[in-house]
Amino acid sequence: MPAIFVGHGNPMNAIVDNGFTQGWETVARHIPKPRFIVCISAHWETQGTKITYSASPRTIHDFGGFPKALFDMEYPAPGSPKFANEIITAYGNNLVAPDQCWGLDHGAWTVMHRMYPEANIPVLEISLNYNLSPKEHFNFAKQLAEFRQKGALIIGSGNIVHNLGAAQWDRTDGYDWAVKFDQKVKETIKSRDFEALLHPERFGKEGALSVPTLEHYLPLLYVLSLASDEEISFFNEEFDLRSISMTSVVLHGKA
Ligand code: ZN
Repeated sequence: MPAIFVGHGNPMNAIVDNGFTQGWETVARHIPKPRFIVCISAHWETQGTKITYSASPRTIHDFGGFPKALFDMEYPAPGSPKFANEIITAYGNNLVAPDQCWGLDHGAWTVMHRMYPEANIPVLEISLNYNLSPKEHFNFAKQLAEFRQKGALIIGSGNIVHNLGAAQWDRTDGYDWAVKFDQKVKETIKSRDFEALLHPERFGKEGALSVPTLEHYLPLLYVLSLASDEEISFFNEEFDLRSISMTSVVLHGKA
């Protein structure tokens, strides 16, 4: 199966039609239908690593100040304790703990709703462990590669550039520093120098402004850690709110 990093941007993408949502719909149409989806979302950080274990995960409306229509939305995809158990077992040593409380946060469901509107494919979420460094996250993610062979679509959902403090509504031209960082990350991915991406702070001022906190950046590392010598491509290479890069990455998998 392919693996995808999705720039999710603001939750309104669940209910408005725009170039970004068309990009998500298009990519879903062009890849094989997954048996299940494993999402690593910027919006679930925990002590230790957890995996959703509910057979019917709730839709979490983890945002404020948006229209009622967004709060009324549900994404009723099933979970899968069976697939969760397979992942827990693959990691072993209690490295991944089952979690009955979490469901699908907006990093997951706003994107899934556009990619798979029928909501009939089981979706699991894996949390981001606060205690790991980017390099440790990158290495941790490698275990997920085997599930691509078993029909899992691994989706990292975050944003390569994510600085809400600098956001300007109704502006879609990225700041200079944001455009430069986004471009450097893309070039580094194309050259497959993934190690260089484990230290965004080494990208100077552009890195510091683009990745003020790690949570939206880390899901990218989860996807890149799965890359073999397969084709890698990009879509939605644009900005929202000036300081949010929507750039998304597809690992195409191999037949
Ligand atoms: Zn977010």
